[in-house]
Amino acid sequence: RSPMAAPLSTAAASWLAEGTSPSPPRVRLLIGGDFVESRATEHVDVTNPATQEVVSRIPLTTADEFSAAVDAARTAFPGWRNTPVTARQRIMFKYQELIRANMDKLAENITTEQGKTLKDAWGDVFRGLEVVEHACGMGSLQMGEYVSNVSHGIDTFSIREPLGVCAGICPFNFPAMIPLWMFPIAVTCGNTFVLKPSEKDPGAAMMLAELAMEAGLPKGVLNIVHGTHDVVNNICDDEAIKAVSFVGSNTAGMHIYSRASASGKRVQCNMGAKNHAIILPDADRDATLNALIAAGFGAAGQRCMALSTAVFVGGSEPWEDELVKRASSLVVNTGTANDADLGPVISRQAKDRICKLVQSGADSGARLVLDGREIVVPQFEDGNFIGPTVLADVKSDMECYQEEIFGPVLLLMKAESLDDAIQIVNRNKYGNGASIFTTSGVSARKFQTDIEAGQVGINVPIPVPLPFFSFTGSKASFAGDLNFYGKAGVQFFTQIKTITQQWKESSPQRVSLSMPTSQ
Ligand code: NAD
Repeated sequence: RSPMAAPLSTAAASWLAEGTSPSPPRVRLLIGGDFVESRATEHVDVTNPATQEVVSRIPLTTADEFSAAVDAARTAFPGWRNTPVTARQRIMFKYQELIRANMDKLAENITTEQGKTLKDAWGDVFRGLEVVEHACGMGSLQMGEYVSNVSHGIDTFSIREPLGVCAGICPFNFPAMIPLWMFPIAVTCGNTFVLKPSEKDPGAAMMLAELAMEAGLPKGVLNIVHGTHDVVNNICDDEAIKAVSFVGSNTAGMHIYSRASASGKRVQCNMGAKNHAIILPDADRDATLNALIAAGFGAAGQRCMALSTAVFVGGSEPWEDELVKRASSLVVNTGTANDADLGPVISRQAKDRICKLVQSGADSGARLVLDGREIVVPQFEDGNFIGPTVLADVKSDMECYQEEIFGPVLLLMKAESLDDAIQIVNRNKYGNGASIFTTSGVSARKFQTDIEAGQVGINVPIPVPLPFFSFTGSKASFAGDLNFYGKAGVQFFTQIKTITQQWKESSPQRVSLSMPTSQ
């Protein structure tokens, strides 16, 4: 599956300062190429969700430290933007090699801090690695356009230039993939970057930063700050920062979108989701059930592309027994266990919130056909575990339907017809993705045309598109104009400049004050 993990370049991780009992190790900042300890007096604990053990803590970066990180990025920008794109790409080539060599270590850190299974954590890193691979072709991706002789002796061409200092704000659920959606594209375009990892699981981002330095990224090109609301607001307000990438919840995303836009920045925000699958009676039974189970309960439902609602045309009854049987057979365990299908959810608060939403569904008339709330995992009794949970007869006015649950909970709904099912999906405010399961090409084509969602699956659960496409959430799942990675990602991190030049033999001409036309 993976190559043997090669050791990181330093014996003790330089991104982590040793703890002294009872204090846990402290996660450092990355400023101007150095991993430095923050002088902050306030911290947030990073907790293993399977055990509640505090594995490290992040500082709430001070205002001075934040300014130093932005200054380092600003100082590094002129030299970096003038570094040939081939040299920038070559660093990404080296970087992808180093990430590959350290996949297992990165995955191990993700499982410890985030809880997902080791195999799933490996996928988290791999899907980010693919973006780094894509950035290796930046010379072609960033290429401009040229039209010769738009008028006599005049040519026009456009070039894509880096913006300057850009910033990224990350969620907890993909600690490696999402930072890698952001800075590899930004820096290979010639920008410099300030990254704020999730305060809940910063380790993978720090390891990735260490590997980026080892790959040859010059000092100051990538900087890392930690914290929560205050440092995010600093990012939104700082005039030196030209663009902000955000992935996370709608509450934070819409705040960041309006505050950062108000200070003139470009902003792209990937936000919450409620992804639906429509199942027609003619769907392939076995493949559909497997897809619903994998996309509903994988990563304990904490994926923005999780399928959280299944709309059965004709009703869910004929599917329920087998669905419940397969969901019940999943193994809930600590992510490091070989047999684990799903690990814990991120925090006790997240578990309480999920359980409350399940209860509100049951209280408002949904049938709880599988209840995983009381699960206890031997030896991990303190973990935030929830077993696969299925609510049937869910109606669109229920709170459990209107809220993003972000846990291993699958809602089953009934639709009278394909049109009715499409209307249910289109009425939902979110638009990250939707899938259909059917053997009818006519139905699939109608779905593809009429559905209002950014990412559409036909007989596949909702996929995260590969990096040559873009991640195209829509409606309330996205704010901004240019999506993450792919062509749109390069456009987001560059400013287009159009140049018109004239080179011709000099000859005496009369001055003309009329509007130039190319004739
Ligand atoms: P979150 O919004 O709580 O946190 C994301 C980031 O924003 C963190 O770095 C956090 O420190 C910061 N933050 C949180 N609240 C803030 C506030 N009020 N003001 C300023 N900053 C704030 O999200 P999360 O719980 O870490 O991640 C889960 C969410 O992310 C889910 O809604 C999920 O759907 C979404 N998500 C979306 C995508 C996508 O591509 N659409 C991908 C992954 C996750």
